[in-house]
Amino acid sequence: MSWQEWVSGGPVLTDGAWGTELQKRGLGLGELPDAWNLIHPEDVADVAHCYRQAGSRVILTNTFRANPISLAAHGLADRCMEMNRVGVEISKKAAEGALVFASMGPSGKLLGAGDVTEEELLAAFCAQAQALASSGPDALLVETFSELAEAIVALRAAKTTGLAVVVSFAFDTGRNKDRTMTGVTPEQAAKAMTESGADGVGANCGVGIEQLVGLCRRMRAATHLPLWMKPNAGLPEVVDGAVRYRVTAAQFASFVPSLREAGATFIGGCCGTDPQFIRSAAAALGSCA
Ligand SMILES: [Zn+2]
Repeated sequence: MSWQEWVSGGPVLTDGAWGTELQKRGLGLGELPDAWNLIHPEDVADVAHCYRQAGSRVILTNTFRANPISLAAHGLADRCMEMNRVGVEISKKAAEGALVFASMGPSGKLLGAGDVTEEELLAAFCAQAQALASSGPDALLVETFSELAEAIVALRAAKTTGLAVVVSFAFDTGRNKDRTMTGVTPEQAAKAMTESGADGVGANCGVGIEQLVGLCRRMRAATHLPLWMKPNAGLPEVVDGAVRYRVTAAQFASFVPSLREAGATFIGGCCGTDPQFIRSAAAALGSCA
């Protein structure tokens, strides 16, 4: 099947959070989740498998931080190739029948602040994108970005693989929580990614599904591209020193039809969501089909 065929058949259910699912399996706070591809591959595979069982038709990879710049902070820059290659292999094997979109997160450094040069960023994202592509994912997902300039560099790097590339931003800042941390609006993100040759654009993490419906509608008005939507289970709250998400799977699912009407092409969840959220979302999509 082609990219056009995947995106033309109505909303495609993706997966939920990975970080919080790995924590349930013992990942420590401050531990690098991506390193589990090498040291606990069976737990990573179990996350992918549980989402596939719950009805996800697109499964991501545990490679969000596996670019050489982020890995260097953990002394693991030399494991970039292996960590990404294995990450794709795990998801492909554990989630048979699903499409695998390989995840690329931001570098953790801001171009605008002069923390990193464009050349360094491009080299880092090219290394990750090529490593991911070597295991044959169905597409690449550049996700949870805040800075437009960094997203454009990551997109350029991802496109060198010849794979379809979706670019997703995290909106969680400003009075209306409708800007990224660096002040980018949904319209700016959608237009810039359309002009830069992305195959899809969207929003993940940041706000919950209720707020994301409005952001999705604004993106839909600004681009013809397929829209990728993965909200959190509400805004995170700290309770007794632990991060909690208050939105339940049923509450989440009750907004899935609205997200669909707002023009979402791909629907899933980010932080705080789990396989139960995906099962509930699948039921909500089924009943509004
Ligand atoms: Zn998230």
